[in-house]
Amino acid sequence: MSTVDLPLLPLGKGRDLDAERGVECPGDLPPASDPHLVERARAAKEALGDKVFILGHHYQRDEVIQFADVTGDSFKLARDAAARPDAEYIVFCGVHFMAESADILTSERQQVVLPDLAAGCSMADMARLRQVEDAWDALADAGIQDLVVPVTYMNSSADIKAFCGRNGGLVCTSSNADVALEWAMAQRPGVDAKILFLPDQHLGRNTAVLKMGLTVDDCVVWDPMKKNGGLTPEELQAARFILWKGHCSVHGRFSAAVVDELREQHPGINILVHPECTHEVCLKADLIGSTEFIIKTIEAAPAGSIWAIGTELNLVNRLRTDHPDKSIVFLDRNVCFCSTMNRIDLPHLVWALENLVAGNVVNRIEVDPDTERDALVALQRMLDLPGKSHRD
Ligand code: SF4
Repeated sequence: MSTVDLPLLPLGKGRDLDAERGVECPGDLPPASDPHLVERARAAKEALGDKVFILGHHYQRDEVIQFADVTGDSFKLARDAAARPDAEYIVFCGVHFMAESADILTSERQQVVLPDLAAGCSMADMARLRQVEDAWDALADAGIQDLVVPVTYMNSSADIKAFCGRNGGLVCTSSNADVALEWAMAQRPGVDAKILFLPDQHLGRNTAVLKMGLTVDDCVVWDPMKKNGGLTPEELQAARFILWKGHCSVHGRFSAAVVDELREQHPGINILVHPECTHEVCLKADLIGSTEFIIKTIEAAPAGSIWAIGTELNLVNRLRTDHPDKSIVFLDRNVCFCSTMNRIDLPHLVWALENLVAGNVVNRIEVDPDTERDALVALQRMLDLPGKSHRD
């Protein structure tokens, strides 16, 4: 196996290697104590007018969401940005892979800005291109590469999406993972096709077992930190799903034990979770779905109903505020924000917007043309899937 680059926060492009990378903000980053931050953000946004379009992911802080022109999951936001070609600047309040997707889907003249470059995603960082290429070579050595279709979750870096595009695979979201995986299976007619699913093992396993009728034993986990993924050629040959050993640090926290506790404490409670949760948690849940599914389910729920929600805490808190007629609890004993999503705060948003007003495009996220071309192939295959919404 080749030496791989360090996975976390690979965004500083070589600067500040000894410390957390990518956090540099040239010029003045306003202090969080500045009492005029809201006014400053509003003034900068007004000054930019239609030239700026601010995207706010559902997991962002309220202080940031209030300035979003549109909210949603990452794929919806990227498409919303593409539908606003008049907006020269797309300020993405989300994480790095989302800004990359927006750059891929928007036009050449639109520039995508991520207010804090340290807003990465630990799940996306768990699959680096060199590691995936090593795994692909190992699949060839095991004599099965021709049977394997690579599929990556939207929550992956642009170069992993491009890898899938180059190798006959596609991108999926948590809403369309089953349809995407059925499509992938059908790409090897006459044989038992296999899937290399990147980078979230839980979404892969939950989809394979709970939606596609496979079993846990049909899945193996490829550990990029072990020689040959920690798997023998025989194990690879027997598997239908090769799940990359990645997970979301937020959704991975929810536990089956807390589900049991809540059911005991609140008879009649409904457990609603995201499919990035572990298989054990999903098995115990009443409903499983994307962030959009979670929002719509709560909107449609009857007054007085009781819910425990297993997704990022900013979204759960917002749902609780927006639906005071329903009882909503968080599916974890502890506070559980996405720490990288929370990197985008009001000082960074003000800093990015005021720089744009001054004519400086800071923290631009730009995907190189070759990667963009191949990633688009994988994204387009997803868009061409029949009859499913594309939400994560
Ligand atoms: S919630 Fe999980 S998948 Fe989403 S950005 Fe945070 S670490 Fe990544």
